[in-house]
Amino acid sequence: MVVSIPFRFDLNSSPLSMTVLESEFHSDLFIGGHWQPSSSGARIEVFDPSTEAVLAEVADATVDDARRAVEAASSAADTWKATAPRKRSEILRRAYELMQRDAEFLAQLISMENGKALSDARGEVAYAAEFFRWFAEEAVRISGDISISPSGQSRIVVQYQPVGISLLITPWNFPAAMATRKIGPALAAGCTCILKPATETPLTAYAIAALLAEAGVPDGVVNVITTSTAGKVCGTILEDPRVRKLSFTGSTEVGRTLLRKAADSVINCSMELGGNAPFIVFDDADIEAALDGAMLAKMRNGGEACTAANRFYVQRNIASEFSAKLADRMQALVVDDGVKSATQCGPLVNRASLAKVASLVDDAVTKGAKILAGGQALSRTGFFYAPTVLTDVPPTADLLKEEIFGPVAPLVVFDDEAEAIRLANATEYGLVAYVYTRDLARGLRVSELLESGMIGLNRGLVSDPAAPFGGVKQSGLGREGAHHGLLEFMEAKYISTAW
Ligand code: NAP
Repeated sequence: MVVSIPFRFDLNSSPLSMTVLESEFHSDLFIGGHWQPSSSGARIEVFDPSTEAVLAEVADATVDDARRAVEAASSAADTWKATAPRKRSEILRRAYELMQRDAEFLAQLISMENGKALSDARGEVAYAAEFFRWFAEEAVRISGDISISPSGQSRIVVQYQPVGISLLITPWNFPAAMATRKIGPALAAGCTCILKPATETPLTAYAIAALLAEAGVPDGVVNVITTSTAGKVCGTILEDPRVRKLSFTGSTEVGRTLLRKAADSVINCSMELGGNAPFIVFDDADIEAALDGAMLAKMRNGGEACTAANRFYVQRNIASEFSAKLADRMQALVVDDGVKSATQCGPLVNRASLAKVASLVDDAVTKGAKILAGGQALSRTGFFYAPTVLTDVPPTADLLKEEIFGPVAPLVVFDDEAEAIRLANATEYGLVAYVYTRDLARGLRVSELLESGMIGLNRGLVSDPAAPFGGVKQSGLGREGAHHGLLEFMEAKYISTAW
């Protein structure tokens, strides 16, 4: 079904073409290169978190639809695997160009279904498109190895082959970038795939599917299905022996469930899971640079990022200056509908997220934390929470242990390097950590000791398509982006040979 979206643009500050304003987009399942309703005819409502209004309805896939998607991916698999890397590369490059062409439309779509500020959505589209460009380049860089065995009796030939049909499951917080970060390497490697986007943000996924079809991706190579019964539908896909890869981005809790499920068929898994990032500021840091980094690490996507700074550890003699300046910056943010161009912080994605953020703040305050800024939901329509800074946060506060996923910065004071490292590592997560210091030796020493897959050293943003993104501990398995991201969709084949 093709439907029109009632776009609500701020025309004065965001001059848009009529084409975008009257945009129509797909809301049916994309299977085998065709748009089709679900076999049950059921549909899922998609909400605008800024207005709480229903934005659109999308098809609600059943297990029968899931089987059809696997069939389509299977039918296309041999041809796609045999397609020349140069050809696969050129299709991905075309997808990158089309994403640039449609950047403003995609940004506004993301902002409307996710709620994030338009400036963040524009940044996401640019980031998402880069995965198509990067993996277009990687598609023609698939190499192997050859060596002589130590005994001298054989040659060890190692070749990399596509892992096979891949199930890609993505979250709502980066609806475009999490999809392209998986589709890009899957296609570059020669895999066909089924994308299952989050229920909150399906429209962006379908827009990307349409764009890939226009770029020349053959029928069945990329299939996209939305469903209100993710467990059943994804379970059906994972039970099919033709499916050989699960690439999941989402919460650690759902990741654990999927790993158990994947164990039944011993499926190759890449898991990009939750985070609880520490942000450490030493007293020799450039305070203004640390504040810039803190705002970026905390407030990109309104705090709804796996890389969001979740716990701020600030050395004692700069703590009051840092916290007062951070509170000033947080209070100055423009909180409003995501699609308004002046907005710096949009709403949270849904009512449950708003309730969770409010209860985490209330828990911390009950246990002794002091509110320096914000501290409450906004009394208006939409799922808005005021940008918040908390100080004197006690170690027992739940928000030091759990992902906040909202615009809340809890501050804790530390005295020395060893204490900062101990506090930062006291979590089951290990996705990213941030460190601010002018002493580069200390920065590198601390970086080595932090239990984290990524470090922002004097930087509040680490995401880069050319860098290996991923976590340790319960933040995940595997890496996305860089050459590592391509290898996640390939298996090494060893040929022992003599000549
Ligand atoms: P989520 O609840 O785990 O959902 C992620 C995806 O999994 C959604 O598509 C969801 O579908 C699906 N899902 C839920 N239960 C499932 C099941 N039993 N079987 C198969 N699929 C299932 O996470 P979220 O709330 O969307 O996203 C936020 C989380 O993602 C945070 O924890 C964040 O840290 C993490 N994240 C991690 C990274 C990273 O790179 N490490 C990046 C971004 C986000 P429904 O929408 O239908 O429930």
